[in-house]
Amino acid sequence: MPRLILPLFLFFLALLPVLLPESAEFYITLLNYIGLYALVALGLVLLTGIGGLTSFGQAAFVGVGAYTTAWLTTAFGWSPWLTLVVAIAASTMVALALGFITLRMGGHYLPLGTIAWGISLYFLFGNIESFGGHTGLGGIPPVSLFGMELKSGREFYYLIWIALMFGVVVTQNLLDSRDGRAIRALKGGVVMAEAMGVNTAWYKIVIFTIAAQFACVSGWLYAHLQRFVNPTPFSLTQGIEYLFMAVIGGVGHVWGALLGAGLITILKQWLQDLLPSLLGQSGNFEVIVFGLVMIFVLHRARDGLWPVLVQQVGRWWPALLGQQQAGRLDDAERLPKREMPQGGDTILEVRKVSKRFGGLTANNEISFTVQAGEVMALIGPNGAGKSTMFNCISGVNPPSDGEVRFLNQRIDNLPSREIARRGMSRTFQHVRLLPTMTVLDNVAIGAHQRGSRNFAHASLRLDREEERRLRYEAARQIERVGLGEHLFDMAGSLPLGKQRIVEIARALAADPCLLLLDEPAAGLRYLEKQALAELLRKLRAEGMGILLVEHDMDFVMGLANRIVVMEFGEKLAEGLPSQIQKDPKVLQAYLGGVE
Ligand code: ADP
Ligand code: MG
Repeated sequence: MPRLILPLFLFFLALLPVLLPESAEFYITLLNYIGLYALVALGLVLLTGIGGLTSFGQAAFVGVGAYTTAWLTTAFGWSPWLTLVVAIAASTMVALALGFITLRMGGHYLPLGTIAWGISLYFLFGNIESFGGHTGLGGIPPVSLFGMELKSGREFYYLIWIALMFGVVVTQNLLDSRDGRAIRALKGGVVMAEAMGVNTAWYKIVIFTIAAQFACVSGWLYAHLQRFVNPTPFSLTQGIEYLFMAVIGGVGHVWGALLGAGLITILKQWLQDLLPSLLGQSGNFEVIVFGLVMIFVLHRARDGLWPVLVQQVGRWWPALLGQQQAGRLDDAERLPKREMPQGGDTILEVRKVSKRFGGLTANNEISFTVQAGEVMALIGPNGAGKSTMFNCISGVNPPSDGEVRFLNQRIDNLPSREIARRGMSRTFQHVRLLPTMTVLDNVAIGAHQRGSRNFAHASLRLDREEERRLRYEAARQIERVGLGEHLFDMAGSLPLGKQRIVEIARALAADPCLLLLDEPAAGLRYLEKQALAELLRKLRAEGMGILLVEHDMDFVMGLANRIVVMEFGEKLAEGLPSQIQKDPKVLQAYLGGVE
């Protein structure tokens, strides 16, 4: 949130219950509900908006929180503060169990999975005898704080909003960290994230669990506000409504959760009063209006209303937004560097690697090596199997047969992030950047494995020193590839040729000893190509091994130490550029026999 607004907003929030007269109790209640809903929607921002995982089942986690405390406080007389801990533990366990099962499912299976467990948990609540069945559980004790019982809505208001603001701060800290970048990287696709060393399965589980914990806390608060629970508020319908709130508010924005929860809650209240009197009969007409609003918003403001709001405020009252957050970069100590292999050592050895896709043999028993301090070029017509070979080597799509050895160890059975950790880094033929993230943040993803601070550090801001070093390293690599003026530009705003160079910077940020570049010069102008060649020469001189796929023959011949020629998945020739240029087989196949 823009700088100046935040303190004003918090001040206003804190004063509200004091300012509102007794007769305005209704508004306090409304605000309490907005706070409770926003906390759940906040989890969805992290899970869906940032991480790209859609869940319809958050209401069930709210139920876990509410029922845990309702049951333990009424049946066993436990203190609500103790049940809060138990409830969070319970929701964590449920989330881990469900997460391990459902998060493996890609595409539309995940949302379907969340619907399934949303329904199951709902019916579970309704069918457990000691939970009071569908009638519910009453007599839940109030929460006491410093010896004061929070019985009224006005008192409870502070608890809810403090919890929400705490959630907002934690989420914001999290997003502005190494882990936050890794979570954003999930949206760039598992392949890219894993190749940059991000353990995507782990991060999915983590954001799923955090979202569940937020929902659980909301449920715990709800139970002690209402002092009564039944299964209805934890149904699938409510789960869908939470998603509505997040999407309408702006599912990619932390404050969007609050905006969405506020708008939907107020709109619902208003429509529930207005529509029946307008239509002359009672019914859940507001749901229909919601559907229409949802379609309209998705149509007109894909990213939700929060970014629209910020833009409008910025236009009418720029001062309120304060300094537009121009990127800032502090000097920091350099990250430790990997020890480079000796020049001339064989760092990569590809032995009889084959890759078959069904009946198609994309690579057939290909062998070659790459040494430290050399540029090895892989050339051949389109469809020859070069990118497939890159995927075999980097673990993105492991070989069907054969062996890949990197730094004298077999790697063809390792996941790509493990290979990345050992010092191999790559770019993709089809650029895989996060277009709405800055160049700096994109490149910093490459340095993921050079940091070690985790969620706990990030949420408490204990990761600042390491974060400065990671960002500084990313900036250094960006300068090195010649894109220093674009540090804080959105990656998607650069021309495609430059985006390829950003990918090189990202690969370099991992501090590799072997660099795999898939058509890096495509889309570059003459001078840019020359600068790229210069950079690769420098890297080579530093002892890096470079495996390069490229179509521009001038570029390849002027740069490569050795060349492997492929055609139809077979290795056609291997040799020095001068030999390859004269090889009749190569001329025949690759250049169509024309000199
Ligand atoms: P190059 O990079 O040399 O242009 P590729 O390695 O991309 O060639 O493709 C080699 C062959 O393998 C092509 O015929 C392509 O259609 C096929 N191929 C590549 N990836 C896959 C895949 N995931 N599934 C099926 N076929 C594939
Ligand atoms: Mg290719």
